[in-house]
Amino acid sequence: MSIEHIGCCSAYCKTCKELDKGLCKGCKLGYASGERDIERAKCKIKLCCFKEKGLETCADCSHFRDCDIINSRFKVGTPNNRKCIRVLELIHNKGYDNFMEVAKDWPNAWGRLPKE
Ligand code: SF4
Ligand code: SF4
Repeated sequence: MSIEHIGCCSAYCKTCKELDKGLCKGCKLGYASGERDIERAKCKIKLCCFKEKGLETCADCSHFRDCDIINSRFKVGTPNNRKCIRVLELIHNKGYDNFMEVAKDWPNAWGRLPKE
């Protein structure tokens, strides 16, 4: 498991069924090896986080709790917005190793988080 498998928005590519089925290339996979070109990326979250700021995920950015780019991709008040922010908060507070342990058995790109 590696940080490369965590999407910028906090979706976990490692446990995502779409990646498993070969229907998606993953968020950040393939750029370091040159298989993919970041200039061709379309996701605004990835472009801001990974390309422009050089961060692994938005959890490393001070704006993630109130980011217009995230809130435009995942509308405020929707389950996906809540999941995204909760996972980013967990990574921000407890780190990537903790996140990967929590998420290792998720059934898809997002799953249960420990009770707060
Ligand atoms: S929505 Fe964007 S940031 Fe999130 S996993 Fe997909 S490509 Fe990555
Ligand atoms: S500004 Fe928003 S999209 Fe860009 S890195 Fe920060 S939280 Fe992520």
